[in-house]
Amino acid sequence: MTVRTRFAPSPTGYLHIGGVRTALYSWLHARKNGGKFVLRIEDTDRERSTQESVDAILEGMEWIGLDYDEGPIFQTDRFDRYAEVIQQLLDQGDAYHCYCTREELDEMREQQRANKEKPRYNGKCRDLKDPKDGREAVIRFKNPVDGDVVIDDLIKGKIVINNRELDDLIIARSDGTPTYNLTVVVDDLDMKMTHIIRGDDHVNNTPRQINMMKALGAELPKFAHAPMILGDDGKRLSKRHGAVSVMQYRDDGFFPQAVLNYLLRLGWSHGDQEIFNREEMIEFFNIENVNGAPSTFNTQKLIWLNEQYIKTLPVNEVIAHLQWHLDNQNLDTTNGPALGEVIEAHRDRAKTLKELAATIRYYYEDFSEYDEKASKKHFKTATANILQNVLDKLTALDSWQADSINNAIKATCEELELGMGKVGPALRVAVTGSAVSPSLDITLALVGKDKTLERLKAAVAFAIAKYANL
Ligand code: GLU
Repeated sequence: MTVRTRFAPSPTGYLHIGGVRTALYSWLHARKNGGKFVLRIEDTDRERSTQESVDAILEGMEWIGLDYDEGPIFQTDRFDRYAEVIQQLLDQGDAYHCYCTREELDEMREQQRANKEKPRYNGKCRDLKDPKDGREAVIRFKNPVDGDVVIDDLIKGKIVINNRELDDLIIARSDGTPTYNLTVVVDDLDMKMTHIIRGDDHVNNTPRQINMMKALGAELPKFAHAPMILGDDGKRLSKRHGAVSVMQYRDDGFFPQAVLNYLLRLGWSHGDQEIFNREEMIEFFNIENVNGAPSTFNTQKLIWLNEQYIKTLPVNEVIAHLQWHLDNQNLDTTNGPALGEVIEAHRDRAKTLKELAATIRYYYEDFSEYDEKASKKHFKTATANILQNVLDKLTALDSWQADSINNAIKATCEELELGMGKVGPALRVAVTGSAVSPSLDITLALVGKDKTLERLKAAVAFAIAKYANL
């Protein structure tokens, strides 16, 4: 049987990082088994579903690189089918109209609370013989009253729930619209899902869904409930903990591969291996090895992974993802050193793509001010003289290569009898505007001769002016 899995988000907000993790598990399970992965948008809650959120889900899936074989399938296109199944359950005697009013239900719950019982629907309308036409009614599923529901959860192991703990849940509202538990069952069966992989916030729904599947005479899929991701305070990951929308990670400068890699390792491992490319993820992943305990989100670890990706991905791939940040930060790199060479020079020191885009601006644009702290610290009384000396030596160079530049700087050190520590920092601030850059010879080679000389002249003038007033 072909393995079929799905990701079934409700479009009621952004695409959450926890959702992406379950999507990843579903996707991996399908890919590993040569199966199909389906994207289904659960948009039947029309009040809370928005087009914006649908767009965010599609954008998020695309950015993170989880490709689907079918979909997006929208539940709102399937109302006729849900009505058909609701009617089938009514006809079979597995569902019934319930006329209880809100007041009656409230009273029922209050009484149960007073008796220290679990609040639940008491089945009052379950055996009504003559449907009361004209009165407003919801439709409830007739849950079996005896026996256990057993879930052989691929992550959590065996879960047993006695049917006495489940009440008759509403499958259609009084306006006829189907509820989540009904639509999910109809879809999972119609779409021939073999494995339902989802967050364990749904684990309470599963026995009810299994009972409905059984009532519909279906073969049961396998279930895997992935534990929640917690923030560092032990609470369920939410906006309070910082970024949770997957697109926020793009905006913050992460590679989609790093985010996926991070999410994969969160609660799953393969020996000591930390870095997995797509092929390795598919090869080594096994849903049954996912840890059943919740995992804690660790931003530092994600940053570490991102650094590894910046260091090691082919330059073209870095450029593909960096470009969004360059555009976002309005940096045009068409005139200036080859972007690939700049990346090579910087990739060992950048944590995020956002930071990388911000730090390479001086190769492509002149700056009007020096970093204040850096110029205060490194522009001293002797600086104008030192920079002038370097300027002269660099001006005389025929070849503008890292090694000739290096020799010129060394010649200044020797002539002025100064260590590199006295020359380098001022030179760096003069040419880049700040105190941090790759090695000076490489930096200057990339900045180019004309720009370097121009900036040195400006820095000499600046340093002279700074001390002229003292
Ligand atoms: N639509 C549900 C949600 O977004 C998921 C349903 C499921 O995976 O069964 O939480």
